[in-house]
Amino acid sequence: MAEVLVLAELNPAGTGVRKTTLEALTAARVLGEPSAVVFGAPGTAATVRDGLAEYGAAKVYVAESADIDGYLVAPKAEVLAQLVVEKSPAAVVIPSSPEGKEIAGRLAIKTGSGFLTDVTDISPDGTATQVAFAGGVIVHSKVTVGTPIYTLRGNSVTPESAAGAAAEETVSVSISEQAKLTRVVDRIVEQKSSRPELTEAAIVVSGGRGVASAENFSVIEGLADSLGAAVGASRAAVDSGFYPHTFQVGQTGKTVSPQLYIAVGISGAIQHRAGMQTSKTIVAVNKDPEAPIFELADFGVVGDLNTVVPAATEQITARK
Ligand SMILES: Cc1cc2nc3c(=O)[nH]c(=O)nc-3n(C[C@H](O)[C@H](O)[C@H](O)COP(=O)(O)OP(=O)(O)OC[C@H]3O[C@@H](n4cnc5c(N)ncnc54)[C@H](O)[C@@H]3O)c2cc1C
Repeated sequence: MAEVLVLAELNPAGTGVRKTTLEALTAARVLGEPSAVVFGAPGTAATVRDGLAEYGAAKVYVAESADIDGYLVAPKAEVLAQLVVEKSPAAVVIPSSPEGKEIAGRLAIKTGSGFLTDVTDISPDGTATQVAFAGGVIVHSKVTVGTPIYTLRGNSVTPESAAGAAAEETVSVSISEQAKLTRVVDRIVEQKSSRPELTEAAIVVSGGRGVASAENFSVIEGLADSLGAAVGASRAAVDSGFYPHTFQVGQTGKTVSPQLYIAVGISGAIQHRAGMQTSKTIVAVNKDPEAPIFELADFGVVGDLNTVVPAATEQITARK
């Protein structure tokens, strides 16, 4: 069976693989047998091997080096290019994170291959689906040159487990002088809340301009916490200083596709929809019955969020 390389994205400090990696392994399986490529300090692969095996990795290429984390994307692109030349895989699938996309671009140049970014689906014949122009256009494309390289948009594919042998194979990592030109000099760990990561959460509660203030975002957070959800925000809410930019959902923010998306005080502009319209169930709370978000919502509540949301939070909490 054809081999498909999958770049494994890991959680910080050896706490397993990210969901995006499981999604990439699942998507890669339609093209062939996935082999995960793990980068990190010595000992990293051992901490994630079982997780990769559970999602069908037939092989694990172990690209470990004491100083690989000291550089940005260039060494990873170099090692992946070397693997593409040696193994002639049928394709390479990479999670569509900012780092993943940069590695994929460099890999495409190094191997003279075609590269499809932010794909939401891959067919067995290699045709990829992309969503363009804020969700208005669905594009089907196929790479015709070199080894097809895909970056897979998060939450587009549901991870499905499948047993894989995850046989380890060590890859020699020699970082060229060219790849050492940009060095990481410091890392500051972002303060994480106890809420799930926005792009990986099964439930997202987002607030918009209708929330009216930073303080009032506690109403959104209260509902999110009662559901074990992540908090998101519209650009208008972010631009008004109600919530930090890293939580923005939409065309110029993050793309989410949870099981349940609750839009509170959000009108439903096309640029917001672009980041959430593939959510499985959409609930909207808005005081304007004509708000465009209701065209998209599966369930809608017309009312003042300051009344509706605390009441919902209270009921959900009481039923737990
Ligand atoms: C290039 C470009 C990129 C963009 N990227 C993004 C993006 O990534 N994400 C994004 O979100 N936007 C983006 N935008 C902005 C987008 O066009 C909208 O301006 C924005 O989404 C509006 O945010 P909103 O729905 O919170 O605000 P509004 O459109 O002002 O809507 C607020 C809503 O709250 C309701 N409301 C008010 N008070 C209450 C209340 N008490 N109870 C219940 N409902 C209430 C109102 O009826 C209204 O529907 C982008 C725009 C451009 C041009």
